[in-house]
Amino acid sequence: MDSEYPKLSIFFFPFLAHGHMIPTVDMAKLFASRGVKATIITTPLNASHISKTIEKAKTPGNGILVQTIRFPCAEVGLPEGCEIADDVLSSPEEAPKFFKAITLLQEPLEQLLHQHNPHCLIADMLYPWALDSANKFGIPRLVFHGTSFFSWVASECVRFYEPHKHVSSDDEPFLIPNFPGDIKMTRMQLADFIKSDEDADYRRMMKSIKESELKSYGLVVNSFYELEQPYADHFRKVLGRKAWHIGPLSLCNTDIEEKALRGKQGAINEHECLKWLDSKEPNSVVYVCFGSLANFAESQLKEIAMGLEASGQHFIWVVRRRKEDEEWLPEGFEKRMEGRGLIIRGWAPQVLILDHHAVGGFVTHCGWNSTLEGVTAGVLMVTWPVAAEQFYNEKLLTRAHKIGVPVGVKKWAERDGDYVKWETVEKAVNRIMRGKEAEEMRKRAKELGQMARRAVEEGGSSYSDLTALIEELSSSCRLCNLNDIYRL
Ligand code: UDP
Repeated sequence: MDSEYPKLSIFFFPFLAHGHMIPTVDMAKLFASRGVKATIITTPLNASHISKTIEKAKTPGNGILVQTIRFPCAEVGLPEGCEIADDVLSSPEEAPKFFKAITLLQEPLEQLLHQHNPHCLIADMLYPWALDSANKFGIPRLVFHGTSFFSWVASECVRFYEPHKHVSSDDEPFLIPNFPGDIKMTRMQLADFIKSDEDADYRRMMKSIKESELKSYGLVVNSFYELEQPYADHFRKVLGRKAWHIGPLSLCNTDIEEKALRGKQGAINEHECLKWLDSKEPNSVVYVCFGSLANFAESQLKEIAMGLEASGQHFIWVVRRRKEDEEWLPEGFEKRMEGRGLIIRGWAPQVLILDHHAVGGFVTHCGWNSTLEGVTAGVLMVTWPVAAEQFYNEKLLTRAHKIGVPVGVKKWAERDGDYVKWETVEKAVNRIMRGKEAEEMRKRAKELGQMARRAVEEGGSSYSDLTALIEELSSSCRLCNLNDIYRL
């Protein structure tokens, strides 16, 4: 960037859920490290979760800031402090109120746009109205989807060609039409709003998200080209859409503290966790975690415990907080697993754990952040999709790259999904941890992990795409808005 011009200034506006906040904060840090003035817009409670991360990311030369807007709990009838979707999405009464409150963020966002005159707005796909806000101020709006090219293109092909309407049952596989590779899905793995005309509100919301996306300047994608070449090419060349791949974003966290600060306060001290891992052999530990939203029934947790015990493998298992009186562990489990298994009740420093050389496997729900973090760490994965686009991500790992094995779930857990028996857990875990097949897969996984790291180094595919995006935004603001730039 020419030094005679003031810094490019970008607003980052993440959706209020950890799976969206975490990569957006990483993205803001990444842009700031490349000379951009990065401002994250969020609510007070969410700002408190990221304040240490932001403090740590600040250096004399880089500008990274947080601006807060009040979350209108009272206006929609939510209890005060309900500012993150993770707490409300599973409640049929509160989730719609949360989405109502989200729409009320438009006005305060526009006040901030008015006061600060950024040159660009990178807003989550779940804020379709952010396009109108950006248009009002004559600046480009980029969309952050938080998912892969693979799932984006695959779901677009399903939406467009409707192959699920030409099968006779929910479990009859269909090929995703006009999609690279031989990828099959079933109706049970698709979102309800795709399959049926019910849930008109949700369909309406998804329609406005799509329309807003089509009219926006383009997409920023947390991925790297080498992982997704055919799908990224399809997105750009066949669908004719603009996108910049700039990931893996998690790689902007380089030291122990940065990795441990990601998300929220961990339920385990990071040094204690590292000490435990240091005592284990390379590739000997399985990490089990289902993201920030998925929550299994007691009976399913018991099966997981029994499967892990029977596998004979060392493990770290993250279980979201349960009610005190729930008995979700088999009797005597923790005593028997002393030294072999570590249970983290609450939030774990995921990237710190995955990056440790002792970790060789990851049982994951295939949320895109977790999927990409697993790829970046070069570990093998047992895929256990639960909802959303996770069934697509599963296919990228198990079919396209063959660095994971499916645990075999057939339908969304949100709709009372499959119950996975302990024997199946045991078998899947051992498939990625021992034997010839695992050895072969591990070679591929390690290579992909190295490619991920090269992608973000100077000259790498993601580094170069980010350079191209920053240059394009800088020159478009210079051409269109010189006066505004000088006003800063
Ligand atoms: N995560 C974490 N600790 C946890 C659970 C999740 O750090 O105990 C992070 C994980 O590293 C990832 C994000 O939370 O960055 C979860 O995003 P993902 O897309 O995988 O799943 P979601 O939570 O949106 O279902």
